[in-house]
Amino acid sequence: MGASENGVMDNKAFYNLTYGVFLLSTAFEGKKNACIINTCIQVANSPTRLLISCINANYTTELLKKSGAFTLSVLDNTCTFDFIKNFGLQSGRNADKFDSIEFKLNSNKIPYIETYASSLFSCHIVEKMDLGSHTAFVAEVDEAKVLSHNTALTYSDYQNKLKPKPANANPAGKIKGWRCKICGYVFDGEKLPADFLCPLCGHPASDFEPIYA
Ligand code: FE
Repeated sequence: MGASENGVMDNKAFYNLTYGVFLLSTAFEGKKNACIINTCIQVANSPTRLLISCINANYTTELLKKSGAFTLSVLDNTCTFDFIKNFGLQSGRNADKFDSIEFKLNSNKIPYIETYASSLFSCHIVEKMDLGSHTAFVAEVDEAKVLSHNTALTYSDYQNKLKPKPANANPAGKIKGWRCKICGYVFDGEKLPADFLCPLCGHPASDFEPIYA
């Protein structure tokens, strides 16, 4: 997720941590939204509790802090890049991400998705901790279901296999924008400010690659 200024800090060291890929959905006062997260672990079993971490700038996180409840689908290896793009690479502030997606509502009126998911959890939040770029939520699981026997998608398989490779670089061409190598967010413009942080995943300018005209 990030780096500090003291001591050796090789960002690549963080790439060896293992993560899954999850669709996190919530709803508050008639507004529903969902985003893709890569951090969810079971941290207790009596009662059964999960820990998730979400970017504070995300609209889903804003709604989640108010609703206190969510559903989480564990995405599987049949999931497409287009599905992840719909939920992960645009903001629910400007688009209804559920517009062209089939979904159902649980008893808390929170949407959930069964497509491309191997497990589904319905949860309510019991603790939260502000971590700066992210908020960590500890949640009690109200319902857990197996949806398919497909293998869960890992974050590393998403990065290395599912996510399309950028088009061939053309160093002779003029730079028209910069793409976040972590989440795919595109910054329009020739010069990316050195202190720029990705608005979607919070990664720094050093994790961006040029897009040539
Ligand atoms: Fe990003």
